[in-house]
Amino acid sequence: MSTLLVDNIGELVTNGIGADSLGIRRKAAVLVEEGQVAWVGPSAYAPVADRRIDVGGAAVLPGFVDSHAHLVFAGDRAAEFAARMAGEPYTGGGIRTTVGATRAATDGELRANVRRLCGEALRQGTTTMEIKSGYGLSVADEARSLRIAAESSSETTFLGAHVVPAEYADRPDDYVGLVCGPMLAAAAPHAKWIDVFCERGAFDIDHARAILACGQAVGLGVRLHANQLGPGPGVQLGVELGAASVDHCTHLSDADVDALAGTAHSDGFGTRTVATLLPGADFSTRSPYPDARRLLDAGVTVALATDCNPGSSYTSSMPFCIALAVREMRMTPAEAVWAATAGGARALRRDDVGVLTPGARADLVVLDAPSYLHLAYRPGVPLIRQVIRNGVPQ
Ligand SMILES: [Zn+2]
Repeated sequence: MSTLLVDNIGELVTNGIGADSLGIRRKAAVLVEEGQVAWVGPSAYAPVADRRIDVGGAAVLPGFVDSHAHLVFAGDRAAEFAARMAGEPYTGGGIRTTVGATRAATDGELRANVRRLCGEALRQGTTTMEIKSGYGLSVADEARSLRIAAESSSETTFLGAHVVPAEYADRPDDYVGLVCGPMLAAAAPHAKWIDVFCERGAFDIDHARAILACGQAVGLGVRLHANQLGPGPGVQLGVELGAASVDHCTHLSDADVDALAGTAHSDGFGTRTVATLLPGADFSTRSPYPDARRLLDAGVTVALATDCNPGSSYTSSMPFCIALAVREMRMTPAEAVWAATAGGARALRRDDVGVLTPGARADLVVLDAPSYLHLAYRPGVPLIRQVIRNGVPQ
């Protein structure tokens, strides 16, 4: 078997045990074997390998884990974005525009779009990406969306409860019955997770609870869109159901924060339900940003993700989200980088990604910079020099 040594790393973010939360090592090297991290230590003691990459003192960090993205769609909504920037409010209603385009697309067109966006994200350092359905909203279109998503990621999420499609507009109970019945049955073989857009204008608390319970009953993990557009019961529903993550969390009450903090692991290893913050959506809808500081100070585990979708956040860039989180959400650069790597892994209940410790998947990002700090300090600059995924230089 062949080995690869990534050597001469000026600053290595491991997210492992260390003096600081990022587990930083200096003048370090990483040995990769069979797609996994086999050894981490000082360059001076690095073992001999079949192949060596000298990064010349650059910073290296784990590949980003983007735990929230909607990639299976057709068309774009640039005109809607422009109208919003000209003053129209965001209501979520534009989702139906994308549903029409998605239903009309061929499998090949949807597949090409997913691959394009995964490639775009990879070039920006994302090595693990969750992909949701939610623009099909019929039994056949949700099933094919997940089948296509599963070709590019093992982290697939059934979001049949994204919005009520137009043909069910006056009978939402019937649509919930469809989601819990034949749609879930067709989607579940291709999905790991179930998600609901629990928001005014989408699905209320009773519908959300019913749909998520049906998903749990067939073995899907729970995550949900909650408290994005206003205060609501979504976050507490997520806690009640043991969700891996509640996503958005822009409008939280003290009781919401307390409920999340109450899911803390007894070993002090963060919270069982992660708060995933999506600053790209707040940016693109010109909405208030969530207060990450308040969550972090309460001990809640925070993840950052892109929410990449054609309506409310058409970015695949985790570095952009890190910069926003630091500038707008009162996170330190270290907290933001952790949230975009280890935090995303926690939100997906994964311990093999988002860290660079022996046994982890060898997903490494080499920066064109001496420190991870530059991800926030130099916003908008293409700092990703090289990406290694599964031990393979991309
Ligand atoms: Zn979303």
